[in-house]
Amino acid sequence: NLFWAPVLDEGVVKHYRIRQLDEGGFFLSRRRAFSTLSEFVSHYTRTSDGLCVKLGKPCLKVQVPAPFDLSYKTVDQWEIDRNSVQLLKRLGSGQFGEVWEGLWNNTTPVAVKTLKPGSMDPNDFLREAQIMKSLRHPKLIQLYAVCTLEDPIYIITELMRHGSLQEYLQNDAGSKIHLTQQVDMAAQVASGMAYLESQNYIHRDLAARNVLVGEHNIYKVADFGLARVFKVDNEDIYESTHEIRLPVKWTAPEAIRTNKFSIKSDVWSFGILLYEIITYGEMPYSGKTGAEVIQLLGQNYRLPQPSNCPQKFYSIMLECWNAEPKERPTFETLHWKLEDYFEADSLYSDTNNS
Ligand code: ATP
Repeated sequence: NLFWAPVLDEGVVKHYRIRQLDEGGFFLSRRRAFSTLSEFVSHYTRTSDGLCVKLGKPCLKVQVPAPFDLSYKTVDQWEIDRNSVQLLKRLGSGQFGEVWEGLWNNTTPVAVKTLKPGSMDPNDFLREAQIMKSLRHPKLIQLYAVCTLEDPIYIITELMRHGSLQEYLQNDAGSKIHLTQQVDMAAQVASGMAYLESQNYIHRDLAARNVLVGEHNIYKVADFGLARVFKVDNEDIYESTHEIRLPVKWTAPEAIRTNKFSIKSDVWSFGILLYEIITYGEMPYSGKTGAEVIQLLGQNYRLPQPSNCPQKFYSIMLECWNAEPKERPTFETLHWKLEDYFEADSLYSDTNNS
């Protein structure tokens, strides 16, 4: 038995693994076990005894509005009146529209994706939204509501204060974020993806730009399923020579060849996401065009091991890029591998940064 305890140390959250003895005691290190959690906490309040810091005050829980707070008695409960949503600040823009920080009913902070007219068929989208709204997991961005009755379509989701993981990594570039946090990011994404895997749902566009960062080192997967409903001319993807955001560099070779996406093609993309995490948001295969990458992958070329990347982390990336989709790990396995990444090295999950 084990569970995780987050500890805030100078703005950085570290996660400690509290384990339970078969006979019931709790411990971080086997040399000191406590019969109750309250004894455990009082001990580490008096002395840090190996923790990064002595325990102080318990963290306040941030109140997150429950998704159903946003339901509304209209055409269907997910369709809300667009006048109830105020767009406050533009957070960014993507291929298909813009993302705004907004306020719903003057009270609830939300993110609003506004879609360029014509970027999708509203009926296709609504069908997909029906499924998306039923997917609920702490590591997935929750869909709250939609406005589809007129253009632009609004997709209203939970707001993540620190924006996309790609920019978050690029802005840090190694100053505060180190291997422990990088493995934690990967583990959190794998946990969200393992849930999608269990629901037989395919993301189709997993990449650091589609992972969002919240307060206290929380990472969530966004935009799952949307790629399926966007009207994308495949020719554009294959023949584009732009370096920026070329999805082909995240897409498994069999998905490019036959347009067959599966949870195993998501696993391939997860390997590329691991590359982005470890390189602080570098463009994969930089300097190569999509067409060159497709050709190289066919000759068994793979992204090389980045200089700061431990062999253990790189091995996980390579497993995701197995040419045979069936041989790639499941997200469930990836999740546990990443959770246990430091297991053999240290009893404390966070004290080993190598
Ligand atoms: P593409 O549309 O090509 O996949 P993208 O994923 O970067 O690119 P969007 O999903 O439109 O584009 O997002 C644009 C930017 O808006 C993101 O990079 C992120 O910084 C911000 N953003 C998106 N969703 C949220 C959210 N729920 N909370 C906070 N910021 C968000």
